[in-house]
Amino acid sequence: MTLIKRPARAGKLVIVTGVPGVGKTTVLTSAITLCKERGVDVKHVNYGDVMFEEATAKGLVKDRDEMRRLPLKGQVALQLSAAKKIRSITEKSNVIVDTHIFIRTPDGYMPGIPSWVAESLLPDSIVLLEADPESISKRRMKDVGIRTREDDEPSKIDEHQLMGRGGAAAISVLTGCTVAIADNREGRHMAAGAVIADLFKR
Ligand code: ATP
Ligand code: MG
Repeated sequence: MTLIKRPARAGKLVIVTGVPGVGKTTVLTSAITLCKERGVDVKHVNYGDVMFEEATAKGLVKDRDEMRRLPLKGQVALQLSAAKKIRSITEKSNVIVDTHIFIRTPDGYMPGIPSWVAESLLPDSIVLLEADPESISKRRMKDVGIRTREDDEPSKIDEHQLMGRGGAAAISVLTGCTVAIADNREGRHMAAGAVIADLFKR
């Protein structure tokens, strides 16, 4: 049996994930405010933003949408160089990575954290933000006007959240990280934020 060697780190690396509209941005803002109040320094990075920075620096793309059209091999290389960049930030500081475990595509669910990214990042914890599918559906509609896509139906949101649990479980077994499930109930984003902030106390 081979044990994965965990890297030397100044801080923790926590992945925060959840389906679109569950409240990631809202809850992360609360978590970071709470960390600041406690005097804990945490850097917040968005995986997609880091990939875009890497792609732009290499002259591969001019806008974000072009990334999805790069040859698959190029996209994997970018995913990996983003993971390396994030790892280098954890050498100096606590990091929260905001990303998706599964992305809905016309061909089915695509992993946002395939094994090679999980093994490169070696997170300490994953926080799955969840909410009642009916509430998520309403939150999405509130943000983009009254519009219902098939993806916005509560049964599809439920399916996507279930995939998220399966993905988090797989990454946990692969890397040894813990998984916390935080319920982002109506009006309770501060409580969900505390689940994330508390991980940096320990
Ligand atoms: P995306 O994946 O599209 O970036 P997100 O997961 O970051 O979405 P937010 O933009 O934070 O989600 O939240 C979506 C909507 O839900 C917003 O209108 C936000 O104000 C609302 N919202 C978030 N958390 C709660 C909560 N606990 N109670 C009520 N409304 C909430
Ligand atoms: Mg957001």
